[in-house]
Order: sequence, then C-alpha cells, then structure tokens
Amino acid sequence: MAQQSDDSSREKTGENLDVLVSTQTVIKKALDKLGYPEQVFELLKEPLRVMHVRIPIRMDDGTVKVFTGYRAQHNDAVGPTKGGVRFHPDVTESEVKALSIWMSLKAGIVDLPYGGGKGGIICDPRQMSFRELERLSRGYVRAISQIVGPTKDIPAPDVFTNSQIMAWMMDEYSRIREFDSPGFITGKPLVLGGSRGRETATAKGVTLMVREAAKKCGIALKGARVIVQGFGNAGSFLAKFMNDSGAKVIGISDAYGALHNDEGLDIDYLLDRRDSFGTVTNLFKETISNQELLELDCDILVPAAVENQITAANAHKIKAKIVVEAANGPTTLDATRILSEREVLLVPDVLASAGGVTVSYFEWVQNNQGYYWSEEEVEAKLEEIMVKSFENVYRTSQTRRVDMRLAAYMVGVRKMAEASRFRGWV
Ligand code: GLU
Repeated sequence: MAQQSDDSSREKTGENLDVLVSTQTVIKKALDKLGYPEQVFELLKEPLRVMHVRIPIRMDDGTVKVFTGYRAQHNDAVGPTKGGVRFHPDVTESEVKALSIWMSLKAGIVDLPYGGGKGGIICDPRQMSFRELERLSRGYVRAISQIVGPTKDIPAPDVFTNSQIMAWMMDEYSRIREFDSPGFITGKPLVLGGSRGRETATAKGVTLMVREAAKKCGIALKGARVIVQGFGNAGSFLAKFMNDSGAKVIGISDAYGALHNDEGLDIDYLLDRRDSFGTVTNLFKETISNQELLELDCDILVPAAVENQITAANAHKIKAKIVVEAANGPTTLDATRILSEREVLLVPDVLASAGGVTVSYFEWVQNNQGYYWSEEEVEAKLEEIMVKSFENVYRTSQTRRVDMRLAAYMVGVRKMAEASRFRGWV
C-alpha cells in the first residue's frame, strides 16, 4: 500500500519508493555501524518465512471470490513473531515483508521477547458486508493456521482491521485447535481477553513521543500547532490526546482530503462523525489535498496514514520542526536525509508507533497468566517503556552522530542479531 488517493499531483523525483529496499538499506547501514559481518545482513534482509495463500470466499450474492493473502515471519530468534494483519486493496508481498522487518525492529527497540511478523489480504473492506468480512477473516486463519499460534506467531490489528476481526480470527483458531486460545491474537475486545488500553495504545505511545521530542526542541506543547495526517485508529485518538494536552490541532485528513483551520479544529465533533474506516472529510465542502496539508505551517507534523508521504519532492517544503511517524514508512530515505539536514527532529516509525505492539505484548502476557491489569497499570508500564526507548534512541543518535532513523535501527537490530548468533544461525 503506497499512497493516499490524492497524491497524483506529486512531483516525480525518480526516488525508489519500494519500502522493502529502503528498510534493507537502513538495516545494512545499522549492521555495518555496529560491526556485524555481511552474513548477519544476509540473514536479516528478508523474512525467514513468507506464506502466500488464496482464500475462496462465498460472497453475499452467491458468487465465489478468491482473495490473496500473505503472512511474513521475519526472524524468530528472540521469540515468536508478532505483528498485525492489514486488509487493503494495495497490499503487496513486498510490502508485507518490509512491514514484518519493521515489527522486528519495533520489538527490539522497546525490548519485547518477540521477532517481527506481518500479514495482509488484498481486499477492500469498505466495499464488503459484515458477513463477508467474517468469512474472509475466518478463511485467512484456516489458510495460515499451521504457521501461527500463541508460541509461534501472534497476529493483531493493522490498517482496516479491528477488534471484531480479531474476535472472529481468535474464534476460528480456537475451533481448529479445539481449545480456547486467547493468546493467539491481540487487539481483541475486552470481553474476549483484550487488554485495557490496547485500542488507544498506538496513539498514547505517539503522544509520549511528541512530548519527549518537544522537550528536546524546547517547544511547549500547550498551544503548539499540530497537524495529523490520517484519521484511523492512530490518527484520530492522537488528535484527541493532542487536543487534551493543550496543543492546537490545526489540520487533519483522511484518504479523500484534508481539513485545515489555523484557530484549531473541533476534534470531538470530528471524532463523533468519523466512520469506522476513519473517513470524515466527505462531510465538508472546503477541503485541501493531503499533500497541501503536509506543507502547511505548523510546529509538529504527525503522518499517521500510509507509506511514502514525505518524499524528496516535498521534504524541503515541510515547515514542522518535529515530525513524529505514527504510520509505518511515511517518510522516504531521501526525505529523511533532507529533514535531518534541515535539523527537523524526526521520530521514526519503528520507535514512534511501537506503543501498539507494546500493549499487545501486555495483552498476550495477561492472556497467558489469566490475570488482567487495570488501565492505569497498562498506561504506566507503556509510558515507562516508551520514554526509556526514546532516550535510548536519542542518545544513540547523539553519541554515534547518526539520524534518529539509523539510531533506531541500530538499537532495534542488535538483540535480534545477538540472539541469531547465540543460536548458531550466523
Ligand atoms: N499493527 C501494529 C503495528 O504496526 C500493531 C502490531 C501488534 O500489536 O502486534 O505496530
């Protein structure tokens, strides 16, 4: 999945927008900086396993449609693989591979006992009925059941998947195994063993990263002008948390366009009116494009939508002093370099959006223990982990004189490389 629908106007720069190639480039640099031999890169540049499945589904009109899906497991030296499943028309195998590598890095940065995994199905859930989505979710689990499980690979929500889809998937897996398996998947509804605080976890984590980055730049959050691109799970809750913390959210967007008001937008109203896919701009006559939104004057910019939004074509036009990546892969490598040269503080995706998988880990731990924590407990633990991880990456970037993305990769790759070495794989 690569772009918002309104980016056809973007200038072409000849930049490589393949997210797998970009992540491999940074992994290589990180391993070189850390002094690992070439064979470690050979091991980590691709997932250990990628399953390609075709899922026949009976549609409501009686016809059968065959959907294509993937599950990639990047590296399981540290522990079982973990990561979400996205339902989107633009899913590709290469993207799912890159996303699984990013999950390994996230787990390494926040120090979870996991490797990275990721799944995707090529479909458009906005065009499917509730029952069709149920059949597709169950069909996907039947197709990948041999390679997943609470001690093998643990799925979770991602773009256009939610707690209802996790519930169907958990139910299907439990039926196949013939015992209740809440630890098979995270992001479940509370009544099925979900964790308090999981739904808002990614946004909470990003909020903490915005706070820490603002401290480093000497920007007061109160009154700071914030733009959030994307109004899905991460973007919508983030806009609310920013608003609650006294910042002024002056721009938001969805896949169809963006809203802007220098005086601040009415976030509670927008949250109330958004549909389950995060669409809200269709209710307004005056909208601007996603690309225009990114280039507006603001203090803090949070891309919380899809990949390749800040590129070599627009990086020099970004006015924010801080960019915090809530989406996976929103900034290209050329854009990362341009922002870094312009001394914009960029908090990279593999750090900024790791709050989601952190609370997924808490959910899995609670499922394994059968003992459930309060929301305060979850949030306190999340804050401790995120702040420590930010400091760790920031310190690495300062002492090793590298940008925050490379620093995050250096922190994220180390445990996986060491675990692979101890196991005798490299
Ligand atoms: N899909 C989320 C991510 O990209 C969460 C994954 C998880 O909770 O396992 O980080």
